[in-house]
Amino acid sequence: MVKKVTKIGVLTSGGDSPGMNAAIRAVVRTGIYHGLEMYGIMRGYQGLIEDDIAKMETRSVANIIQRGGTILKTARCKDFYEYEGRKKAYKNLKKRGINGLVVIGGDGSFRGAVKFSQEFDIPCIGLAGTIDKDIHGTDFTIGFDTAVNTAVEAIDKIRDTMDAHDRVFIIEVMGRDAGYIALHSGIATGAENILIPERKTDIKDLVLSLQEKERRKKLVNLIVVAEGDGFGGANEVQKIIQDELPNSEIRVCILGHIQRGGAPSCLDRLIASRMGYHAVECLREGRHNVFVGILNNKMHYIPLENAVKTKSKISDEWMKIVKILAS
Ligand code: ADP
Repeated sequence: MVKKVTKIGVLTSGGDSPGMNAAIRAVVRTGIYHGLEMYGIMRGYQGLIEDDIAKMETRSVANIIQRGGTILKTARCKDFYEYEGRKKAYKNLKKRGINGLVVIGGDGSFRGAVKFSQEFDIPCIGLAGTIDKDIHGTDFTIGFDTAVNTAVEAIDKIRDTMDAHDRVFIIEVMGRDAGYIALHSGIATGAENILIPERKTDIKDLVLSLQEKERRKKLVNLIVVAEGDGFGGANEVQKIIQDELPNSEIRVCILGHIQRGGAPSCLDRLIASRMGYHAVECLREGRHNVFVGILNNKMHYIPLENAVKTKSKISDEWMKIVKILAS
Protein backbone atom coordinates (compact mmCIF):
# COMPACT_ATOMS: atom_id res chain seq x y z
CA MET A 1 0.00 0.00 0.00
CA VAL A 2 1.42 3.39 -1.04
CA LYS A 3 1.81 5.86 1.81
CA LYS A 4 0.01 9.13 1.19
CA VAL A 5 2.33 12.11 0.96
CA THR A 6 1.47 14.87 3.44
CA LYS A 7 4.66 16.88 3.88
CA ILE A 8 7.16 17.60 1.13
CA GLY A 9 10.70 18.94 1.39
CA VAL A 10 12.38 20.70 -1.52
CA LEU A 11 16.07 21.44 -2.01
CA THR A 12 18.45 22.69 -4.66
CA SER A 13 21.81 20.95 -4.91
CA GLY A 14 25.11 21.01 -6.84
CA GLY A 15 25.72 23.70 -9.47
CA ASP A 16 23.06 26.39 -9.55
CA SER A 17 21.12 27.09 -12.71
CA PRO A 18 18.74 29.88 -13.74
CA GLY A 19 15.16 28.73 -13.25
CA MET A 20 15.73 26.87 -9.99
CA ASN A 21 13.69 29.54 -8.22
CA ALA A 22 10.82 29.11 -10.66
CA ALA A 23 10.92 25.37 -9.92
CA ILE A 24 10.90 25.91 -6.14
CA ARG A 25 7.93 28.25 -6.54
CA ALA A 26 6.01 25.71 -8.59
CA VAL A 27 6.70 22.87 -6.15
CA VAL A 28 5.70 24.92 -3.10
CA ARG A 29 2.55 26.40 -4.62
CA THR A 30 1.34 23.13 -6.12
CA GLY A 31 1.83 21.40 -2.77
CA ILE A 32 -0.02 24.11 -0.87
CA TYR A 33 -2.83 24.05 -3.46
CA HIS A 34 -3.32 20.38 -2.57
CA GLY A 35 -3.27 21.09 1.16
CA LEU A 36 0.21 19.67 1.76
CA GLU A 37 2.81 21.10 4.14
CA MET A 38 5.86 22.34 2.28
CA TYR A 39 9.40 22.65 3.63
CA GLY A 40 12.43 24.39 2.16
CA ILE A 41 15.80 22.76 2.86
CA MET A 42 18.76 25.15 2.74
CA ARG A 43 22.05 24.45 0.90
CA GLY A 44 21.05 21.14 -0.60
CA TYR A 45 22.03 17.95 1.18
CA GLN A 46 24.15 19.99 3.61
CA GLY A 47 21.04 21.64 5.08
CA LEU A 48 19.30 18.29 5.16
CA ILE A 49 22.10 16.87 7.32
CA GLU A 50 22.38 20.01 9.47
CA ASP A 51 18.61 20.26 9.90
CA ASP A 52 18.45 23.67 8.24
CA ILE A 53 14.81 23.25 7.23
CA ALA A 54 11.92 25.72 7.38
CA LYS A 55 8.24 25.62 6.52
CA MET A 56 7.33 27.48 3.35
CA GLU A 57 4.11 29.29 2.56
CA THR A 58 2.70 30.69 -0.66
CA ARG A 59 4.30 34.07 0.08
CA SER A 60 7.73 32.50 0.74
CA VAL A 61 8.09 32.09 -3.00
CA ALA A 62 6.61 35.43 -4.07
CA ASN A 63 8.59 37.51 -6.56
CA ILE A 64 11.25 34.90 -7.32
CA ILE A 65 10.18 33.46 -10.68
CA GLN A 66 12.33 36.01 -12.52
CA ARG A 67 15.43 35.67 -10.35
CA GLY A 68 18.54 33.61 -11.12
CA GLY A 69 20.34 31.60 -8.43
CA THR A 70 18.30 29.86 -5.76
CA ILE A 71 16.63 31.27 -2.65
CA LEU A 72 17.29 27.94 -0.93
CA LYS A 73 21.03 28.27 -1.72
CA THR A 74 22.97 25.29 -2.97
CA ALA A 75 26.07 23.39 -1.92
CA ARG A 76 28.22 20.41 -2.61
CA CYS A 77 28.02 18.18 0.43
CA LYS A 78 30.81 15.71 1.25
CA ASP A 79 28.94 14.12 4.16
CA PHE A 80 26.13 12.98 1.89
CA TYR A 81 28.52 10.58 0.15
CA GLU A 82 28.70 8.69 3.46
CA TYR A 83 25.97 6.47 4.86
CA GLU A 84 26.20 8.20 8.25
CA GLY A 85 25.49 11.56 6.64
CA ARG A 86 22.49 10.23 4.77
CA LYS A 87 21.18 8.63 7.97
CA LYS A 88 21.30 12.01 9.73
CA ALA A 89 19.43 13.52 6.78
CA TYR A 90 16.76 10.83 7.06
CA LYS A 91 16.32 11.40 10.80
CA ASN A 92 15.78 15.12 10.22
CA LEU A 93 13.06 14.44 7.69
CA LYS A 94 11.48 11.75 9.84
CA LYS A 95 11.22 13.90 12.95
CA ARG A 96 9.18 16.47 11.00
CA GLY A 97 7.10 13.82 9.29
CA ILE A 98 8.36 14.89 5.85
CA ASN A 99 7.48 11.96 3.60
CA GLY A 100 8.41 13.21 0.14
CA LEU A 101 11.49 14.97 -1.23
CA VAL A 102 12.01 17.01 -4.38
CA VAL A 103 15.66 17.33 -5.43
CA ILE A 104 16.44 20.04 -7.97
CA GLY A 105 19.95 19.56 -9.32
CA GLY A 106 22.23 17.84 -11.79
CA ASP A 107 23.33 14.23 -12.24
CA GLY A 108 25.43 14.30 -9.06
CA SER A 109 22.42 15.36 -7.01
CA PHE A 110 20.40 12.61 -8.70
CA ARG A 111 23.11 10.09 -7.76
CA GLY A 112 22.76 11.18 -4.13
CA ALA A 113 18.97 10.88 -4.34
CA VAL A 114 19.21 7.36 -5.77
CA LYS A 115 21.39 6.21 -2.87
CA PHE A 116 19.20 7.95 -0.30
CA SER A 117 15.99 6.48 -1.64
CA GLN A 118 17.48 2.97 -1.80
CA GLU A 119 18.41 3.14 1.87
CA PHE A 120 15.46 4.98 3.39
CA ASP A 121 11.72 5.06 2.84
CA ILE A 122 11.51 8.62 1.51
CA PRO A 123 10.26 8.87 -2.07
CA CYS A 124 12.48 11.25 -4.04
CA ILE A 125 11.54 13.10 -7.21
CA GLY A 126 14.26 14.75 -9.28
CA LEU A 127 14.02 17.91 -11.34
CA ALA A 128 16.89 18.35 -13.76
CA GLY A 129 18.33 21.74 -12.83
CA THR A 130 21.56 22.05 -14.76
CA ILE A 131 22.95 24.39 -17.39
CA ASP A 132 24.82 21.44 -18.95
CA LYS A 133 21.72 19.65 -20.36
CA ASP A 134 23.52 16.36 -19.82
CA ILE A 135 20.66 14.38 -18.27
CA HIS A 136 19.58 11.43 -20.35
CA GLY A 137 15.80 11.15 -20.88
CA THR A 138 14.72 14.76 -21.21
CA ASP A 139 14.86 17.28 -24.05
CA PHE A 140 15.17 20.12 -21.56
CA THR A 141 16.91 20.85 -18.30
CA ILE A 142 16.19 23.89 -16.17
CA GLY A 143 18.80 26.58 -16.89
CA PHE A 144 20.26 25.41 -20.18
CA ASP A 145 18.28 27.80 -22.36
CA THR A 146 19.27 30.82 -20.28
CA ALA A 147 22.92 29.79 -20.13
CA VAL A 148 23.19 29.16 -23.83
CA ASN A 149 21.50 32.47 -24.64
CA THR A 150 23.92 34.27 -22.35
CA ALA A 151 26.79 32.59 -24.20
CA VAL A 152 25.31 33.52 -27.60
CA GLU A 153 24.88 37.15 -26.57
CA ALA A 154 28.49 37.34 -25.35
CA ILE A 155 29.91 35.59 -28.43
CA ASP A 156 27.97 37.92 -30.76
CA LYS A 157 29.64 40.88 -29.05
CA ILE A 158 33.08 39.32 -29.35
CA ARG A 159 32.39 38.59 -33.02
CA ASP A 160 31.97 42.31 -33.69
CA THR A 161 35.44 43.15 -32.43
CA MET A 162 36.90 39.99 -33.96
CA ASP A 163 35.54 40.98 -37.32
CA ALA A 164 36.82 44.55 -37.02
CA HIS A 165 40.37 43.29 -36.41
CA ASP A 166 40.45 40.16 -38.58
CA ARG A 167 41.20 37.87 -35.68
CA VAL A 168 40.87 34.27 -34.71
CA PHE A 169 39.03 33.98 -31.41
CA ILE A 170 38.86 30.95 -29.18
CA ILE A 171 35.97 31.26 -26.78
CA GLU A 172 35.60 28.91 -23.86
CA VAL A 173 32.14 28.14 -22.57
CA MET A 174 31.06 25.97 -19.64
CA GLY A 175 30.81 22.20 -19.90
CA ARG A 176 33.34 20.03 -18.11
CA ASP A 177 31.76 16.77 -19.22
CA ALA A 178 29.12 17.90 -21.69
CA GLY A 179 29.39 19.87 -24.90
CA TYR A 180 25.82 21.10 -25.29
CA ILE A 181 26.48 24.74 -24.43
CA ALA A 182 29.45 24.79 -26.82
CA LEU A 183 27.56 23.03 -29.58
CA HIS A 184 24.37 25.09 -29.37
CA SER A 185 26.06 28.46 -28.86
CA GLY A 186 28.69 27.62 -31.49
CA ILE A 187 26.16 26.75 -34.17
CA ALA A 188 24.02 29.75 -33.26
CA THR A 189 26.95 32.15 -33.63
CA GLY A 190 28.38 30.61 -36.79
CA ALA A 191 31.51 29.12 -35.23
CA GLU A 192 33.99 27.59 -37.64
CA ASN A 193 35.03 24.92 -35.14
CA ILE A 194 33.47 23.54 -31.98
CA LEU A 195 35.49 21.44 -29.55
CA ILE A 196 33.52 19.31 -27.10
CA PRO A 197 34.33 16.55 -24.60
CA GLU A 198 32.16 13.98 -26.39
CA ARG A 199 34.27 14.07 -29.57
CA LYS A 200 37.99 13.71 -30.03
CA THR A 201 39.28 16.67 -32.03
CA ASP A 202 42.10 16.05 -34.45
CA ILE A 203 44.25 19.11 -33.80
CA LYS A 204 46.14 18.58 -37.09
CA ASP A 205 42.85 18.82 -39.00
CA LEU A 206 41.97 21.96 -37.08
CA VAL A 207 45.32 23.59 -37.89
CA LEU A 208 45.11 22.54 -41.55
CA SER A 209 41.63 24.02 -41.90
CA LEU A 210 42.78 27.29 -40.31
CA GLN A 211 45.89 27.42 -42.54
CA GLU A 212 43.72 26.84 -45.57
CA LYS A 213 41.44 29.69 -44.44
CA GLU A 214 44.51 31.91 -43.96
CA ARG A 215 45.47 31.21 -47.58
CA ARG A 216 41.98 32.18 -48.69
CA LYS A 217 42.36 35.38 -46.65
CA LYS A 218 39.53 34.32 -44.38
CA LEU A 219 41.13 35.66 -41.26
CA VAL A 220 38.09 35.89 -39.02
CA ASN A 221 37.58 32.53 -37.39
CA LEU A 222 35.60 31.63 -34.34
CA ILE A 223 36.39 28.53 -32.35
CA VAL A 224 34.08 27.63 -29.49
CA VAL A 225 35.59 25.33 -26.92
CA ALA A 226 33.90 23.55 -24.00
CA GLU A 227 35.87 23.59 -20.73
CA GLY A 228 36.33 19.84 -20.93
CA ASP A 229 37.38 19.76 -24.59
CA GLY A 230 40.17 17.25 -24.04
CA PHE A 231 43.04 19.73 -24.43
CA GLY A 232 42.54 21.66 -21.19
CA GLY A 233 40.43 24.56 -22.37
CA ALA A 234 40.81 27.58 -24.65
CA ASN A 235 44.23 28.73 -23.40
CA GLU A 236 45.74 25.33 -24.10
CA VAL A 237 44.20 25.19 -27.57
CA GLN A 238 45.65 28.61 -28.32
CA LYS A 239 49.15 27.49 -27.26
CA ILE A 240 48.93 24.48 -29.54
CA ILE A 241 47.74 26.28 -32.65
CA GLN A 242 49.40 29.72 -32.41
CA ASP A 243 52.84 28.46 -33.56
CA GLU A 244 51.27 26.84 -36.60
CA LEU A 245 49.52 30.06 -37.64
CA PRO A 246 52.15 32.80 -37.45
CA ASN A 247 50.10 35.21 -39.56
CA SER A 248 46.97 35.00 -37.44
CA GLU A 249 46.35 36.87 -34.26
CA ILE A 250 44.66 34.42 -31.94
CA ARG A 251 42.79 35.71 -28.90
CA VAL A 252 41.15 33.84 -26.08
CA CYS A 253 38.06 34.71 -24.06
CA ILE A 254 36.74 32.58 -21.22
CA LEU A 255 33.09 33.35 -20.54
CA GLY A 256 33.02 31.69 -17.10
CA HIS A 257 30.36 32.16 -14.48
CA ILE A 258 28.27 34.75 -16.29
CA GLN A 259 26.72 31.70 -17.96
CA ARG A 260 25.21 30.54 -14.66
CA GLY A 261 23.61 33.76 -13.55
CA GLY A 262 20.93 36.15 -14.71
CA ALA A 263 17.19 36.13 -15.05
CA PRO A 264 15.89 32.83 -16.44
CA SER A 265 14.58 32.88 -19.99
CA CYS A 266 10.88 32.43 -20.68
CA LEU A 267 11.53 28.82 -21.70
CA ASP A 268 13.37 28.01 -18.47
CA ARG A 269 10.60 29.59 -16.38
CA LEU A 270 8.02 27.54 -18.25
CA ILE A 271 9.74 24.19 -18.02
CA ALA A 272 10.61 24.83 -14.36
CA SER A 273 6.95 25.63 -13.64
CA ARG A 274 5.70 22.54 -15.48
CA MET A 275 8.29 20.23 -13.96
CA GLY A 276 7.72 21.63 -10.46
CA TYR A 277 3.99 21.06 -10.76
CA HIS A 278 4.55 17.49 -11.98
CA ALA A 279 7.02 16.70 -9.19
CA VAL A 280 4.24 17.19 -6.64
CA GLU A 281 1.76 15.27 -8.80
CA CYS A 282 4.26 12.39 -8.91
CA LEU A 283 4.47 12.26 -5.12
CA ARG A 284 0.69 12.50 -4.79
CA GLU A 285 0.29 9.58 -7.19
CA GLY A 286 2.64 7.51 -5.06
CA ARG A 287 5.54 7.51 -7.51
CA HIS A 288 9.03 7.41 -6.17
CA ASN A 289 12.59 7.73 -7.35
CA VAL A 290 11.86 9.17 -10.75
CA PHE A 291 12.75 12.45 -12.37
CA VAL A 292 10.43 14.59 -14.41
CA GLY A 293 11.56 14.86 -18.01
CA ILE A 294 10.04 16.41 -21.12
CA LEU A 295 10.22 14.41 -24.35
CA ASN A 296 8.46 15.61 -27.51
CA ASN A 297 6.59 18.16 -25.39
CA LYS A 298 5.12 15.46 -23.13
CA MET A 299 5.96 14.94 -19.49
CA HIS A 300 7.66 11.65 -18.68
CA TYR A 301 8.61 10.10 -15.38
CA ILE A 302 11.95 8.39 -15.75
CA PRO A 303 13.66 6.26 -13.07
CA LEU A 304 16.41 8.32 -11.42
CA GLU A 305 18.73 5.37 -11.86
CA ASN A 306 18.45 5.59 -15.66
CA ALA A 307 19.51 9.22 -15.55
CA VAL A 308 22.67 8.46 -13.62
CA LYS A 309 23.58 5.32 -15.57
CA THR A 310 23.15 6.62 -19.10
CA LYS A 311 24.92 9.58 -20.63
CA SER A 312 22.97 11.87 -22.86
CA LYS A 313 24.36 11.60 -26.40
CA ILE A 314 25.21 14.15 -29.07
CA SER A 315 24.23 12.93 -32.51
CA ASP A 316 26.73 12.86 -35.38
CA GLU A 317 24.32 14.95 -37.44
CA TRP A 318 25.01 17.96 -35.24
CA MET A 319 28.74 17.66 -35.93
CA LYS A 320 28.08 17.31 -39.66
CA ILE A 321 26.01 20.50 -39.60
CA VAL A 322 28.85 22.36 -37.87
CA LYS A 323 31.29 21.25 -40.57
CA ILE A 324 29.05 22.03 -43.54
CA LEU A 325 27.94 25.44 -42.29
CA ALA A 326 31.45 26.54 -41.40
CA SER A 327 32.89 26.19 -44.88
P1 ADP B 1 25.37 18.38 -9.70
O1 ADP B 1 24.11 17.93 -9.03
O2 ADP B 1 25.26 19.78 -10.21
O3 ADP B 1 25.85 17.37 -10.72
P2 ADP B 1 27.46 17.47 -7.81
O4 ADP B 1 28.01 16.41 -8.72
O5 ADP B 1 28.42 18.29 -7.05
O6 ADP B 1 26.50 18.50 -8.57
O7 ADP B 1 26.48 16.74 -6.76
C1 ADP B 1 25.80 17.49 -5.78
C2 ADP B 1 25.81 16.76 -4.47
O8 ADP B 1 25.11 15.52 -4.59
C3 ADP B 1 27.20 16.34 -3.96
O9 ADP B 1 27.88 17.41 -3.34
C4 ADP B 1 26.82 15.26 -2.98
O10 ADP B 1 26.36 15.80 -1.76
C5 ADP B 1 25.66 14.57 -3.69
N1 ADP B 1 26.15 13.40 -4.43
C6 ADP B 1 26.71 13.35 -5.67
N2 ADP B 1 27.08 12.10 -6.01
C7 ADP B 1 26.76 11.31 -4.94
C8 ADP B 1 26.91 9.92 -4.64
N3 ADP B 1 27.46 9.08 -5.52
N4 ADP B 1 26.48 9.49 -3.44
C9 ADP B 1 25.92 10.32 -2.54
N5 ADP B 1 25.76 11.65 -2.75
C10 ADP B 1 26.17 12.14 -3.92
